[in-house]
Amino acid sequence: MRPRANSGAEPLSIYISVPFCRSKCSYCNFASQVFPAARQSEYIAALEQELEWTRERESSLGESCATLYWGGGTPSLLPAALFTRVMTALERHFPRQPGAECTLEAAPGTLQSDTLDAWRRAGIHRVSLGMQSWQAAELRASGRLHGPEHIAADLRTLRAAGLEEINLDLIAGLPHQTETSWRDSVERTVAAGAPHISIYMLDVDEDSRLGRELLAGGGRYHAASVPADDQIAEFYEYGIERLARAGYRQYEISNFALPGHESRHNDGYWLRQPYLGLGVDAHSLLRSAAPGAEDGRDLRWSNLDSLEAYLAAIARGELPRAETIWLDAESQLEEACFLGLRRNEGLDLNRLEREFGEAALAPQKAELRAMAAEGWLEENGDLVRLTQRGRMMGNEVFARMLH
Ligand code: SF4
Repeated sequence: MRPRANSGAEPLSIYISVPFCRSKCSYCNFASQVFPAARQSEYIAALEQELEWTRERESSLGESCATLYWGGGTPSLLPAALFTRVMTALERHFPRQPGAECTLEAAPGTLQSDTLDAWRRAGIHRVSLGMQSWQAAELRASGRLHGPEHIAADLRTLRAAGLEEINLDLIAGLPHQTETSWRDSVERTVAAGAPHISIYMLDVDEDSRLGRELLAGGGRYHAASVPADDQIAEFYEYGIERLARAGYRQYEISNFALPGHESRHNDGYWLRQPYLGLGVDAHSLLRSAAPGAEDGRDLRWSNLDSLEAYLAAIARGELPRAETIWLDAESQLEEACFLGLRRNEGLDLNRLEREFGEAALAPQKAELRAMAAEGWLEENGDLVRLTQRGRMMGNEVFARMLH
């Protein structure tokens, strides 16, 4: 395997995790909880500390920030003063590059005029509204506190505040969703005119209450009214087709944008550009060799996923890391393949060959060819991409790229 060149010059993306929510949605598998508001300032102080220590210890991180993303949890719950404190600290340690993309996730019904002012003053220009559906019954059954009226009001508020770069999230597979209600939600999302839309299929795993109930075959959390898998797949396919007709280009499995409005932050993850995650359960990837590392190995780490454990680590004077993994060239190549396939543009085999060498790429190429024969992938010169069928088989395709 050819060692990777030091890539400290690559653009750095920064992710800030805010693990607070007003209520816990039944389908949620993120590390977020409902905490008293008083915990927020404690958390922000710890986050500032983590930022400072990381800047000191990870000398191979870039000097500036190309994209910034506030996720969670619900970053829109953070009071303006706490939000501004983090932005000031970030600017000190990782000044933003001119034209840096800056996004913040907001829950409908949580917008406040003083926080909107603070976001705008600090350079936030994209807001991702976690609306999920336009149907009151689906939102209620999922434990969401907002209704369709909040979504409509928030869209007006954001636009009046000059925040036009809006993403709207939809989930296919919510309890009580039907073909009619799904089509109505997609239609109203298109009519809302946001330049970016994400469609996720309901995750069924052990990490959410609804997922556990579905796996156990129980009926709590409205599990009995969750659409069947093949129906969810049909909803997703309808969404792709309808958004394409409305001019949205699908650029990744779950992401659609009007031309020029794709998220650079997300694209960075799929292209394995370096990113620094700060806060509870945040993940990081460092492409260049950190001090003491063997040349050519990437460094990946995740932070502790509970607020208490995170705060305790910082109080002990430690970085709040849960797991640290050094990735050799083989693992890097596997990741580059399965992450790259998420993008509609596809995998550039020529580029991978230049980076990793012909011999290293040979087994991946053989697997890609086998999947193309099964109709899951299509080739176009040096580019390999998922077919529509392959997109439905996403997890299986990605698993086959890992050896
Ligand atoms: S608002 Fe988002 S992060 Fe919070 S509980 Fe709901 S799905 Fe999870």
